[in-house]
Amino acid sequence: MVRAVVGANWGDEGKGKITDMLGQESDIIVRFQGGANAGHTIVNDYGKFALHTLPSGVFYNHTTSIIGNGVALNIPVLMEEIKEITDRNVPMPKILVSDRAQMVMPYHILFDEYEEERLAGRSFGSTKSGIAPFYSDKYAKIGFQVNELFDEAALKEKIERVLVQKNILLEHLYHKPLLDSDEIFATLMQYKEMVEPYVCDVSAYLWRAIKENKNILLEGQLGSLKDPDHGIYPMVTSSSTLAAYGAIGAGIPPYEITQIITVCKAYSSAVGAGAFVSEIQDKEIADELRRRGGDGGEYGATTGRPRRMGWFDCVASRYGCRIQGTTDVAFTVLDVLGYLDEIPVCVGYDIDGTITTEFPTTGLLEKAKPVLEMLPGWKCDIRGIKTYEELPENCRNYVEFVESQIGFPITMISNGPGRNDIIYRTVDTIQVK
Ligand code: GDP
Repeated sequence: MVRAVVGANWGDEGKGKITDMLGQESDIIVRFQGGANAGHTIVNDYGKFALHTLPSGVFYNHTTSIIGNGVALNIPVLMEEIKEITDRNVPMPKILVSDRAQMVMPYHILFDEYEEERLAGRSFGSTKSGIAPFYSDKYAKIGFQVNELFDEAALKEKIERVLVQKNILLEHLYHKPLLDSDEIFATLMQYKEMVEPYVCDVSAYLWRAIKENKNILLEGQLGSLKDPDHGIYPMVTSSSTLAAYGAIGAGIPPYEITQIITVCKAYSSAVGAGAFVSEIQDKEIADELRRRGGDGGEYGATTGRPRRMGWFDCVASRYGCRIQGTTDVAFTVLDVLGYLDEIPVCVGYDIDGTITTEFPTTGLLEKAKPVLEMLPGWKCDIRGIKTYEELPENCRNYVEFVESQIGFPITMISNGPGRNDIIYRTVDTIQVK
């Protein structure tokens, strides 16, 4: 069985926690897109970890962690992450890296920095991990796959060829030092040594695993609204964040993905620039939610930058769930809202006087004003509660209101950062089936 855990919104929905939790019953966990630009925060018996490249399954002895071909693979970052977890007493996980995964080159990070510098105030808010230049090169067919490290003559020739183009940009567009092909080759030889023990024909491996009825979990990064096709283009990431892309980025048949668990946070947060309709405008109210949010505040796992805060957005989440092909919604960080007397929820967008519940294209989105509805708060701490029936009535009303608005069943409710802080809902309490 293949399942996917993906985000409904702008990322940071708590996917890491859900993946870590479902990892208990998984044999294989696969990263299929993105790179070290975003991170998951995971709290477990070993401590608190921010993972950027490794799948969230690395804390279990029984799982194989796979970096699929769709990932932007930063080899030194991967090595550092392996070291960081093993230094903190996590047993060495079984890791496989696709021989077709492409590598983030040292110059991708430089180009990311130079481009942000060149754009100055008009930048996209990149994390400068080299992701956009990496995917540009991949689709311009001048990227480097892991398997290319093993043919040194061809590799040398290709580096020479690619650098001609890179150096023209460095000299004339960015006015920066030029790249040296011998240096790049030497770096790649170091990468080869680092990655060699993990290299695998991943799609063949997964094909066999599917035949053997293994439980496979695809772990997405970011969320629907950051998808380059269906998100808030151009304020998006460079690889698809959708479960459908799991088939491509892992190399498995699309019809094998039978469960799509879309993670939705009980309020909203976003990083970087771009329209964010339900954003809280009052600085103090936003600051308080940020401070109380997540596990230790809503600050970027990779960058530490404060996240933009908003109320739950039914329009964006309904769209985000639909475009993922959601079978189950995991509704997270509900415990955080326990301090509020009243909780605003965005139920529609007002665009030039017309109210809509359909998520619009970017130009219209910029004009949208939130239509807010107030729901009563429950004013207590719900952490530790194990069954849906034990939740305060106003809290259940909040869940059921959101569920009816988004139109997808909320089958899991996360009421704390830990693996066991989860409430499963039984079919009879679910409104939307
Ligand atoms: P991801 O990228 O989607 O995995 O999201 P993050 O790494 O930003 O995770 C969100 C943060 O919220 C992390 O610090 C988690 O430990 C924390 N978290 C996840 N679920 C819950 C929850 O139900 N309640 C609380 N309070 N924190 C949670």
